[in-house]
Amino acid sequence: MKYISTRGNAPELSFEQAMLTGLARDGGLYVPETWPSFSPDQIAAMAGKSYEDVAFEVMKPFVGDTFTDAEFRDIIAKAYAGFGHPARCPIKQIDNNQFLLELFHGPTLAFKDVAMQLIGQMFQVALKRRGETVTIVGATSGDTGSAAIEAFRGLDAVNVVIMFPHGRVSEVQRRQMTTPVESNIHTLAVDGDFDTCQGLLKDMFNDFDFRDEVRLAGVNSINWARVMAQVVYFFTSAVALGAPHRKVSFTVPTGNFGDIFAGYVAKRIGLPIERLVIATNQNDILHRTLQSGDHAKTGVVPSISPSMDIQVSSNFERLVFDLYDREGAAVSQLFDQLKTDGAFTLSQGALARLHAEFDSGRCSETETLATIKTVFDTTGEVLCPHTATAVKVASEQPASATPMVTLATAHPAKFGAAVKDACGVEPELPPRMADLFDRDERQTRVAGDLAAVQKIIRERIKA
Ligand SMILES: *Cc1c(COP(=O)(O)O)cnc(C)c1O
Repeated sequence: MKYISTRGNAPELSFEQAMLTGLARDGGLYVPETWPSFSPDQIAAMAGKSYEDVAFEVMKPFVGDTFTDAEFRDIIAKAYAGFGHPARCPIKQIDNNQFLLELFHGPTLAFKDVAMQLIGQMFQVALKRRGETVTIVGATSGDTGSAAIEAFRGLDAVNVVIMFPHGRVSEVQRRQMTTPVESNIHTLAVDGDFDTCQGLLKDMFNDFDFRDEVRLAGVNSINWARVMAQVVYFFTSAVALGAPHRKVSFTVPTGNFGDIFAGYVAKRIGLPIERLVIATNQNDILHRTLQSGDHAKTGVVPSISPSMDIQVSSNFERLVFDLYDREGAAVSQLFDQLKTDGAFTLSQGALARLHAEFDSGRCSETETLATIKTVFDTTGEVLCPHTATAVKVASEQPASATPMVTLATAHPAKFGAAVKDACGVEPELPPRMADLFDRDERQTRVAGDLAAVQKIIRERIKA
């Protein structure tokens, strides 16, 4: 399988190259040149199989011959061995025809682990074989950073530098990033918001000298391998609910559009998904885009679902690429305009194609809190605020006989204060994390400025 850039002006890469590179040199994102296809019979045969076996089958066409079958099975086994549930990503019913897909049983209690644990194992095998080292730089609104740190801590072929917006992540999120003791882990508290961090990351990738000097690699949700890993749980959950004989719909709490884009990929490659519903919090650029066709940035307003607090939704570019018949020049023009004017407008044709696959809804702060309380009162289930936004949006969809699966993206204990405010219950951290608040923290505060951040990275990776 070859990978091409959404801006049509970067070299084609293999899976391994795309995984190790992240962002394309023309500023675009890598996508598969063609979509593989799973027949209903192939999907039916997934019923009753383990998460790992389905993962192997779903991802195999995307990785091609990057790894031998035995290597790839071993990578998958290691990636999910540390999950605290034998089903890895179990589903749970919360109402008539309403289900939660629990994606938070990994080491950092958020869905980012599902992809990041796999990436850690794949990087290790690929880099060992090449005899290389890389510097992984990530920007996080909270959960990606700790997931990357957990996936790479102690691997000596990899330095990890994580930038997070100072003062804008929850205490559990921050401590998960600042308490690991391994010397290959570096955590930067950046003055600014998540978009500042993500902008710095993009600028670093576009500084080719710096990129080559530190052997920069990205594992943010722009990395194709992450999207690929997330396609798997759409399959396991849909098959558990009767696919391919029955259609399934999904509602996804959305920020950077990586998770829901994986749902779109699942549909493109054959999974019978009826609707894909984008749930946003008060930072609702994607909901507004669906309503009007205008993709217009406003300021980020901090919320109690911080991992969704963004206005630049990077993976949306991958969808726009398909909406524009995979014409890189058109995508390039739109995203240049977004950079200069802060907005672009989708063509009528593109908007119609968007509506053919997706619906959307927005959930305010008050509604998020009220949803946590209602679901707790009626089912005893404690939701994290991100999951609550999506449960609310799912509940507003037209009644349907098709099962609705809402992605539960974090454990409620990661956002304990907000959850306690909402329903009076303070969710507990699982035992393996009980001492998180006693561990020492290690972080470097830095201005939201490219030169300042590059200087620190150069110093650190030499040390
Ligand atoms: C990252 C994250 C999201 C948003 O996912 P995207 O792939 O960025 O759209 C939602 N909820 C939680 C808990 C997250 O960590």
